[in-house]
Amino acid sequence: MNVIVMGPPGAGKGTQSKYIEDRYRVKQLSSGDMLRNAVASESEIGKLAKSYMDAGQLVPDRVVMDIVFATIDSLSDTVPGFILDGFPRTVQQAKELDAFLEAKQKAIDWAIVIDVSDDRLVERIAGRFTCAKCGEGYHDKFKRPKVEGVCDRCGSTAFNRRADDNPDTVRNRLAVYHKQTKPLVDYYRKEGRLRIIDGELPIDQVSKHIDEILSNAPSNLVASERV
Ligand code: AMP
Repeated sequence: MNVIVMGPPGAGKGTQSKYIEDRYRVKQLSSGDMLRNAVASESEIGKLAKSYMDAGQLVPDRVVMDIVFATIDSLSDTVPGFILDGFPRTVQQAKELDAFLEAKQKAIDWAIVIDVSDDRLVERIAGRFTCAKCGEGYHDKFKRPKVEGVCDRCGSTAFNRRADDNPDTVRNRLAVYHKQTKPLVDYYRKEGRLRIIDGELPIDQVSKHIDEILSNAPSNLVASERV
């Protein structure tokens, strides 16, 4: 089962991707995380990507595609599928992804859009932070760790806040989403692979809708019970 999770920044793509990863044992592949790792390691790709990311602009297609396709190639055969979180973001990326997968007799089963209004997004993004170790997402107001300062998922006590989660960059990222990423919705709709979920519902309701979609996935993966 291979799935794309789409939506504006702050819609909950990362949270729901982690949910899918835990429940279906597929691998979350976040292009944003790959690029942030490249920036942190000060590689050539990281240096190039940083200026775009700091401004809330998209990193050039070729750079992102190279890094994402190499990561897909590095997945072990025992992994039953992947969730792409934050990729593709342009129609060009989507087309090349399809061609790349087709050559490997693979395909995207569903493109799931988590839809949230702009007003709600700015409020959400302002308070979010993630576990520095496993990447679980939290929010000052909407989702604090059950034990203060300790990650619910892995027990780590270190957390990160993203440099690009500031109001100016967020506004740019939303504008970029509407202009460059929204056309992707039509691309996947035409292909019959699109599913849209109301991302303003509570987190567990959004997850429930995702389960409904994935239980009809062509490869028919059975969900594992959560503990
Ligand atoms: P994200 O963590 O998905 O919000 O991504 C953070 C930033 O990384 C974005 O604002 C872009 O600058 C860059 N980025 C991530 N994924 C892509 C992509 N598929 N295409 C272009 N730029 C991307």
